[in-house]
Amino acid sequence: MELAAAPPALLVRRHLHVAGEWVDPADGASIPVENPASGEVVGRVPAGTPADVDRAVAAARAAFSGWAATAPAERAAHLDRLHAALAARADEIARTIALELGTPLKLATRVQAGLPLTVLRSVVDLAARPPAEETVGNSLVVREPVGVVGAITPWNYPLHQVVAKLAPALAAGCTVVLKPSELTPLTAYLLFDAVAEAGLPPGVVNLVPGTGPVVGEALAAHPDVDLVSFTGSTATGRRIAHLAADRIARVALELGGKSANVILADADLPTAVKVGVGNALLNSGQTCTAWTRMLVHRDRYAEALDLVASAVEAYRLGDPFDPATRLGPLVSAGQAERVRGHVARALADGARLVAGGPDAPLPARGHFVAPTVFADVHPDSALAQEEVFGPVLAVIPFDDADEAVAIANNSRYGLAGAVWSADEEAALAVARRLRTGQVDVNGGAFNPLAPFGGYQQSGLGRELGAHGIAEFTELKAIQR
Ligand code: NAD
Repeated sequence: MELAAAPPALLVRRHLHVAGEWVDPADGASIPVENPASGEVVGRVPAGTPADVDRAVAAARAAFSGWAATAPAERAAHLDRLHAALAARADEIARTIALELGTPLKLATRVQAGLPLTVLRSVVDLAARPPAEETVGNSLVVREPVGVVGAITPWNYPLHQVVAKLAPALAAGCTVVLKPSELTPLTAYLLFDAVAEAGLPPGVVNLVPGTGPVVGEALAAHPDVDLVSFTGSTATGRRIAHLAADRIARVALELGGKSANVILADADLPTAVKVGVGNALLNSGQTCTAWTRMLVHRDRYAEALDLVASAVEAYRLGDPFDPATRLGPLVSAGQAERVRGHVARALADGARLVAGGPDAPLPARGHFVAPTVFADVHPDSALAQEEVFGPVLAVIPFDDADEAVAIANNSRYGLAGAVWSADEEAALAVARRLRTGQVDVNGGAFNPLAPFGGYQQSGLGRELGAHGIAEFTELKAIQR
């Protein structure tokens, strides 16, 4: 085989971060990191082992009492320095996420690198306040850090998902061992470069890269981990809850979703459709809160489908580093294959293809799937029930608000949702009836201080804001 031009330099990281130092892993095995836009290997990280997890958990345990006793203002100052060190790397973080995940660079800069900075800033401000104490009759009710946290995170927002755990856990006074996704570990290394630069006390945060079945299981099952904070699929969340149940350890689970975007008859349709399509296709549909079911009042249904089809046409697939690209590849060949399977199943189930589909043109290489829209999707069908985690939108008509609520709530998930109406009170009334952890009315903006999490099989517990910090605490009642 003839070699093309020189391959790009591999991004190789050889160490774990334990007790404040870069240390050698127990074993020399490594995991390749792929660029999903080309299929080429672009990096390598250690394949951690249970022995590495033991070492990292021991470091986190040793650091716990000192960090828990550190004054809130001092902990906030540490987090502030971490914010500065991360902000200094924002450009490198965005480029790394474009490389290892395939998010278009513009979006990677704004959302993938920008959002965690916003979240971290909000936690710095909250961390500086002493934890609230409450007097209930003769009791003083105080909050104390829960202990050592095992954080296990997915690939779809590789920095945000980590910061949404690490920052509130540290603010609460916990110490942390992180296992990032094996598909996007290079971003976690940039975070730990920032941790090292910020000078966090040794052992307060530790990094063990590796696979779910090896490092993830060892961390979730570790007898000295007090709380496992997990973001990922519902299937893995179930497994982690089982592992933690054996020792009655706490779990916080942020899992999958199948969120409904309810567009009432009097909605500003062009805006509702444009924002709805943008939300469903964000990060190539690899977003847990994606509004993947668009529910439209039958009076506006035909008009909405036309708007959806022309909105989707504008999403150009391509190289994440090309400024004209609006949709990158899916993260892996396996993920692209799973999404194609959902598309084939929807066709077999009789859904009407409105845009994209299996025959739509694709870039010559990389794990691309065309943005695809189905109309007349039956609310009980697989496409309306299962999380696809790709650029696939199901459009479903309804006749009145009661039916819209019934369809929206016909799901085992309950993560997010949206309602659109010219009558904000009517929209709010529908929002209150949706069985989900968050709902956006008429495109309400993301709020980093609002609790984030799911009902039903979308998870347990809440992240972000004061509720997110409370997740990492125990309550103690002192009677006087
Ligand atoms: P995943 O469950 O496959 O993996 C998530 C993490 O768990 C990875 O670090 C993985 O290595 C680890 N893991 C896998 N098997 C494990 C095991 N047996 N024990 C311990 N750890 C294990 O999920 P994913 O494919 O990385 O992410 C996509 C999923 O995450 C989607 O279902 C999506 O909805 C969900 N998600 C949810 C949220 C949320 O906040 N609710 C946010 C983002 C993603």
